[in-house]
Amino acid sequence: MAACPHPEKQAHATEKAALAHRTALIRHRHASPDVVAYLCRCGFWHVGHSQQSLRDRIRKARRGTGLAGRRQRHKR
Ligand SMILES: [Zn+2]
Repeated sequence: MAACPHPEKQAHATEKAALAHRTALIRHRHASPDVVAYLCRCGFWHVGHSQQSLRDRIRKARRGTGLAGRRQRHKR
């Protein structure tokens, strides 16, 4: 099994356990609603921002900025 890149995070054996933890964190405002339960390379589930979802969000943000810029140029 690969070494965990986030050993400080709580490790859950199942997705269900991780999702329950995620819900509790959000309910107590210890985490923002955009955190996800994800399967780590260590074989356990963690709650947090997965690298995949971070990349997706950056890509979406870049695309959004590009469209806004184009729209602005059309307006002028
Ligand atoms: Zn891990």
